[in-house]
Amino acid sequence: MTLDFARNGVFIAGRWRGSGSGELIAIEDPSTGQTVGELSCASAADVDEAVAAARAAADGEWGATPAFERGRILANISRAVLDETDRLAELEAMDVGKPLAQARNDVIALARYLEFYGGAADKLHGQTIPFQAGYTVYTLREPHGVTGHIIPWNYPMQIIGRSVIAALATGNAAVLKPAEQASLTSLAFARIAADAGLPAGALNVVPGLGAVAGATLAAHPGIDHISFTGSTAVGRHIQEAAAKNTVPVTLELGGKSPQLVFDDADLDKALPFLVNAGIQNAGQTCSAGSRILVQRGVYDEVVWRMAKRYAELRAGPAMANLEVGPLISAKQKAMVEGYLALGRKELAVAGEGRIVGDAPAGGHYIAPTLFADVRGEHALAQEEIFGPVQVVIPFDDDDQGVAIANGTPYGLVAGVWTADGGRQMRLAKRLRAGQVFINNYGAAGGVELPFGGVGRSGHGREKGFEALYAFTTLKTVAAHHG
Ligand code: ADP
Ligand code: MG
Repeated sequence: MTLDFARNGVFIAGRWRGSGSGELIAIEDPSTGQTVGELSCASAADVDEAVAAARAAADGEWGATPAFERGRILANISRAVLDETDRLAELEAMDVGKPLAQARNDVIALARYLEFYGGAADKLHGQTIPFQAGYTVYTLREPHGVTGHIIPWNYPMQIIGRSVIAALATGNAAVLKPAEQASLTSLAFARIAADAGLPAGALNVVPGLGAVAGATLAAHPGIDHISFTGSTAVGRHIQEAAAKNTVPVTLELGGKSPQLVFDDADLDKALPFLVNAGIQNAGQTCSAGSRILVQRGVYDEVVWRMAKRYAELRAGPAMANLEVGPLISAKQKAMVEGYLALGRKELAVAGEGRIVGDAPAGGHYIAPTLFADVRGEHALAQEEIFGPVQVVIPFDDDDQGVAIANGTPYGLVAGVWTADGGRQMRLAKRLRAGQVFINNYGAAGGVELPFGGVGRSGHGREKGFEALYAFTTLKTVAAHHG
């Protein structure tokens, strides 16, 4: 069955073996709540070995592989990933509870990253710098060496794409620590990549617990860069751990991203984006557009139209491929239910979807819920919920809209819906975010588009060409030749 596609164990120096800890944790299918297998948990010693294997690869075969050849290998892996679209999508749908179509989309995004970074591998170059007579000065873009990647459970394949693949393209050797709730596609990917010609040690995978495998990797003196995607709280730990070794960090953390809808917006075009940005992956998306800010002139109409759409939304098993799947875990569901209870007490429910009648009782389902007439300061408008829950907030004019939009500690992405070209440009500058979308939201994933946050949403950029800079270091060579 599909599960066998992901080997159980740690993958180090091109070989699979059981974890040193011997510890196993349950692999849960969030659609049913049932245990479908067991996952090996890497020990601290396994992480040591993975870092050593990555170092050997960086100093050895992988480090000596010319840029164009690295690109060719990544392109081969891209084709191998596409050949396995069905199995990877089914595996992810089962492991994360993602509706099948959304899981397929993640596979295709991973293949696109492999293509993009494969193509870019031999196009990253330094500069020559005019200097004093008798000198020639130039810069070299060099890999950091060994990169650590700690990723979450919500979009494993897309995050491997934007993080691990960019690191490999630039000649780093990587150690990947997938999330304990969803490691299967990381394990399957390691196997596909090795079969498609990635040399041993270039990618090592150490599944296991955040507090053990994750913490050991983040604090490891043998790594040269750490890339983390996850919660703001854990992100802080990662940065502290990295600081002890003076290791650079890329942090992609949470968000509470706004979409601003102005009176002159094309509502027919906006509506699907407004709702989808809140319910995609059951709202478990860092860049979820969870706050909908609407100008007074169209406020009632937008609330009414969103509510109508909400009434049609259905949550059910991943394989039923509805709009919304289950949440990842009972714990996540309980957290979202806490917000829903607070919202029902203090706010107005404007729209609600349904959990399908035949959804398994043990699955972690939440009916998508829309709250309206919310004030920007309310907890549901300030805190990241990570569930299919959106709030609608009214505003009067540009200044008030921007103030509410920028009024959280986060700054990941923002959307603006308006026909006014001047306002589009002004708001793009005024909004505090790493990405601003004008009359769209998310740009269909856009692997080419630099992504990352400001404030509590983190720092550093992944995706696009920017990631190639993040995963390299610059050396200046000044030659005096008289
Ligand atoms: P979430 O709340 O979405 O599960 P986390 O930030 O807890 O996000 O987890 C993201 C990733 O960080 C996972 O791979 C997890 O195992 C890892 N992680 C959790 N705690 C730590 C830690 N103390 N040190 C390093 N990694 C950790
Ligand atoms: Mg799972």
